[in-house]
Amino acid sequence: MARIVMKFGGTSVADLDRIRNVAARVKREVTAGNEVAVVVSAMSGVTNQLVKYCQDLSPLHDAREYDAVVATGEQVTSGLMAIALQEIGVEARSWQGWQIRLKTDGAHGKARIADIDSDELIRRMQTGQVAVVAGFQGIGPDNRVTTLGRGGSDTSAVALAAAIKADRCDIYTDVDGVYTTDPRIVPRARKLQRIAYEEMLELASVGAKVLQTRSVELAMKQRVRVQVLSSFDAADGGDLPGTLVVDEDEIVEKEMVAGIAYSRDEAKITVRHVPDRPGIAAAIFGPLSEASVNVDMIVQNISADGLTDMTFTIGRTDLARTHAILAQHQGDIGYREILADPNVAKISVVGVGMRSHAGVANTMFKALASRGINIQVISTSEIKVSVLIDADSTELAVRALHTAYGLDA
Ligand code: ASP
Ligand code: MG
Repeated sequence: MARIVMKFGGTSVADLDRIRNVAARVKREVTAGNEVAVVVSAMSGVTNQLVKYCQDLSPLHDAREYDAVVATGEQVTSGLMAIALQEIGVEARSWQGWQIRLKTDGAHGKARIADIDSDELIRRMQTGQVAVVAGFQGIGPDNRVTTLGRGGSDTSAVALAAAIKADRCDIYTDVDGVYTTDPRIVPRARKLQRIAYEEMLELASVGAKVLQTRSVELAMKQRVRVQVLSSFDAADGGDLPGTLVVDEDEIVEKEMVAGIAYSRDEAKITVRHVPDRPGIAAAIFGPLSEASVNVDMIVQNISADGLTDMTFTIGRTDLARTHAILAQHQGDIGYREILADPNVAKISVVGVGMRSHAGVANTMFKALASRGINIQVISTSEIKVSVLIDADSTELAVRALHTAYGLDA
């Protein structure tokens, strides 16, 4: 017997048939003698619609009311799921964030989880009742409904698994695991049996959209064993194994590179001819950070005649804002011009094996060179190398790297 959390994303609960299908899957775990908590997302498309309602009424809508609106998607699914379970003879009860006291901070729209009161849930699960928990939502210090940021029900599931000390947190989604890269680009991508928390974290943060980044951070911190698997396979039983996200020590054969991710959501800015003096980086990036513009890769050119260029990347949606902020501060920064290029992509290779293997970056540079792909910016961390390239070369680059690191199936 095990205690498990099963989380179902929007596509897995997109209509009543799929909800029935999920209920049958939950029933199998209950029949096998497991204690089960289910975390659900809103039905696919619903949250987008709710967000749009708020935006259409007022672009500067009140964040508390935004949360009151967007949290309803999960409320609906949790009730429907409880009904579907009861309908097939499984005892079940739905729970909203405020009812299990999933307490968060007061950052409406992107709240962080502080604490979950799990006693009552555990007591009921021990009597065989399935707890169906609405993901994505909690309750803030002001006693109002909060939400955890888009994709946040992954984080709800992991936090719940930690709070009830679950043996496993199974995240059911529309893909059957974590792949070496996007199979739509590389048909020979392979499903990973295991991936280390840190690798998953890096991959999630650089564009692999399987899990919300914060859920991986939390899983790593709380040592929650997460399994990513598909809710569409083998509906009649015999589950195909997904990918386990685990501690690095549980991975015996560490590949040099576990996966390759790409992101086309970047833009590159070059601030030209700024004086090369102490404080110049602070003058550029201070105002951006105050405006919550997330800056990623940064390079500063060698200076000539006391002037230098500063190049960096930001999220593409922040491009207009960044431009405006820099223009406002042209006086204190003292630059001559700003160049903006939205047509870039960031390609990253990630693997804990890099710590003990030399030459990972060089393999990347050679593979890209052999395809005639120019590298614009490079950044590295202990287990990741990222390059910025022309967006038109994204697919070519990902394929070349997948082959170069021996990842092709
Ligand atoms: N329904 C929310 C969203 O679409 C949360 C989630 O699905 O994880 O962002
Ligand atoms: Mg999701």
